[in-house]
Amino acid sequence: MMQSHSSLWFANALLPGGWQAGVRITVTQGRIDRVATDVPATNDDERHAAGIPGASSVHSHAFQRVLAGLTEQHRGSDNFWSWRDRMYTLVQKLTPEHIEAITALTYLEMLECGITRVGEFHYLHHAPGGMPYAHIAEHAERVASAASETGIGLTLLPVLYAHSGVNGKPPTEQQRRFVNSIDSFANLLDASRTAVARLRFANVGVAAHSLRAVTPEELGELLPLADRGPIHIHVAEQLEEVRQWQEFAGCRPVEWLIDHAPVNERWCLVHATHVSESESRRLAANDAVVGLCPITEANLGDGIFPAREFVANGGRFGIGTDSNVLINFAEELRLLEYGQRLVQRERNVIRGAQETSTGRTLFERALEGGAQALDCHTGSLSEGFIADIVSLSIDHPSMLCREGDALLDSWIFAGANAIDCVWSAGEKVVSDGRHRLREQVAGRYATVIRTLLD
Ligand SMILES: [Zn+2]
Repeated sequence: MMQSHSSLWFANALLPGGWQAGVRITVTQGRIDRVATDVPATNDDERHAAGIPGASSVHSHAFQRVLAGLTEQHRGSDNFWSWRDRMYTLVQKLTPEHIEAITALTYLEMLECGITRVGEFHYLHHAPGGMPYAHIAEHAERVASAASETGIGLTLLPVLYAHSGVNGKPPTEQQRRFVNSIDSFANLLDASRTAVARLRFANVGVAAHSLRAVTPEELGELLPLADRGPIHIHVAEQLEEVRQWQEFAGCRPVEWLIDHAPVNERWCLVHATHVSESESRRLAANDAVVGLCPITEANLGDGIFPAREFVANGGRFGIGTDSNVLINFAEELRLLEYGQRLVQRERNVIRGAQETSTGRTLFERALEGGAQALDCHTGSLSEGFIADIVSLSIDHPSMLCREGDALLDSWIFAGANAIDCVWSAGEKVVSDGRHRLREQVAGRYATVIRTLLD
C-alpha cells in the first residue's frame, strides 16, 4: 500500500546543482518535501547507493508495443508507410480489454527502465468500424486504468485526427477508429479529463495528429480546447510529408507552424526530424520542446534530427518511446548521441556545460524537456517536485568503481542494466529491476497476445 510518508537516503544523488553525498529525500503525499545533503543515514531511512530523478517518455503509442519485432522482414519497398499499413491491420482487431492489457505491460516496462511518467499520444478512440463506444472515452479509461495499476504518472494527450492527407483529404477506411469532428473531439476531451481525474498527478493536454490529419482551420479550433495544458503534434517525420506540405502551403511544415500557430513553451513538436537550419533556430528561440524518439525513428527509417545545432542554440528536447518497439530510456539517449556522432564523425557531440559529461547532459536535458512537454513538476530531486526517483545499482560490472557522471555514462553508453528501484510519486513500484506486478501484468498480456496473433 502507498505510504504517505517515507524517507530515502542515497550515498550519492544527482540534485539540480550536481552530485551530492549523503542525501536524504523525505517524501510526503507523493511529493518530495525535503532534501538534505551531507547527512548520515539513520535507522528510519531506506538506504541506496545512487539516486537520480525518474525520466519521462514524452511520446508513446502504447498499443503499438504488440508489433515489436514483427515487422522486420523485407517486403518489397519497406518504409514508414508500409510499416503503418501493417500497424493499421493490427488496429482493426484491438478491443478495450486488449488496449488495457497491452498498455499495462508497456507502462510496466517503462517503469523498469526508469521512466516514471508518460505522455500518451492517444488517437485510437472508437470501436472497430469507427462507431464511438457508448462511453466515448472508453479507451482513455483503459489507458488510465493501466497507468493506475502500474503506478506510472500519466499525461493523456487525446488526439484530433480528421483527415488522411493535406487539404482535408477524407480519412481512409482503416483510419475510421481515429476520426473525430471538432465537436465530438470536445466531448471526448471532457470525458478524458474525467477518466484521469481519479489518478494522482495526472493531467490532460491536446494533440493534433499532424498537419496531414488536421486542417489549418481545425488546428485553430483545437488550440483553445487545450485550456492551459500542453499541445503536441507529429511534424516533419518523413520527407514525403514535408514535400506534400510544401506543395500545399508553399513552405516547410515547421516554418508554417511557427508562422501560423502560437508555438511556445507549451508545445511539443514530435520528431521534427527534417528541419532546416532556420526552422531549428526558430524552434529553439520559441522555447518549444522537440520530442525525439531515436529508437523508433531508427526503426522506421525516418532520418536523423540535427541535434547538435539545436542544442547549441539552447533548443529543448524530450525523449519519446513512440512505437515502443524497444523500451529502454538509456538506449534512447545513447542512440540520440550516436546518430549525431555517425553523421558528424566526432565524439561527444551533444554538449552542455564544460564540467558535465555527455551522459549527464543528455539525461538532464531530456528530463527538463520531458517535464516541460508534459507540464508537470517531475524530473528533479527538489522540494515540491513529484517524488519520481530511481536508484542505480553499482554492482553491475560496468558500474564498478564509478562515481558521479561516470555512473550515468556507464548506464547509458556501456549498456549497464543498472536500474535497481523506482519510486513513482513516492510509491516504490520496481525493486531489483523488477516491477512488483510483473507476473500478473505479463500474464494478462500473454493471454491477449495469443488471441491477437494466433
Ligand atoms: Zn508517434
